Amino acid sequence: MSSDIVVCPNCRTNLQNSANIAGQIVACPKCQSQLQMPALSIPVASPQLPTPVELPPAIDLPPTIPVNVTGGSGIHGTNMPVVQSGRAKKTTSTSVNDRLRKKSNPLIIVFAAMITLIVIGVGVIAVLWEQSEKGKQQFGNKMVGNWELIPGQSQLERWDFAFHDDRKMQMALGNQLSEGRWKVTSVQGETGYLLIEWPDEAPETMRVRFEGGTMQIQLESVGSFAFRAAVP
Ligand SMILES: [Zn+2]
Repeated sequence: MSSDIVVCPNCRTNLQNSANIAGQIVACPKCQSQLQMPALSIPVASPQLPTPVELPPAIDLPPTIPVNVTGGSGIHGTNMPVVQSGRAKKTTSTSVNDRLRKKSNPLIIVFAAMITLIVIGVGVIAVLWEQSEKGKQQFGNKMVGNWELIPGQSQLERWDFAFHDDRKMQMALGNQLSEGRWKVTSVQGETGYLLIEWPDEAPETMRVRFEGGTMQIQLESVGSFAFRAAVP
């Protein structure tokens, strides 16, 4: 183990390497040509053998390289050039990515902000619209039914309203019966606004307010009066 066989490159003679000539330039005993004796296999093998073994992982596993480098010393130092070239490649590709990311960042932020605003806007509009529709429907449900004038507000013998589910509306004013269609157009707090579509006249807006079981209405053609629920 303290010696190795070295083949003379000139005459192919096997030469015995030994500790006292290892690493030195010697003359071949047969052909006298000078040749460099290598270091002995045991001390030499240690730095050389790990090199081919560790090369593939050093290339295939870039993320582990920084750990190996910081922990590396002595024998691992042999791998440094390979490791460093691997790192250098990785660093350049990362910096290119960084540069691309920096360039595209403002656009991405603006785009994301626009999308976010649109989503929020659509959401707010949808919620408001749903609340508005719900309020109209609730108000319409309160309207449905028969209403008669609370006595003492008019000289008329008979004056009442009937609001039907199918949006048909009947108004009896004295002995004159009018029919139209009704629709809640908006609700503001306790007050609802109804569009009354008369078949022969221009449509009118009826303002309705519920107070203590009475329905206060204001309709341009008849004025402001209070009604109470009536049995049909
Ligand atoms: Zn020779």
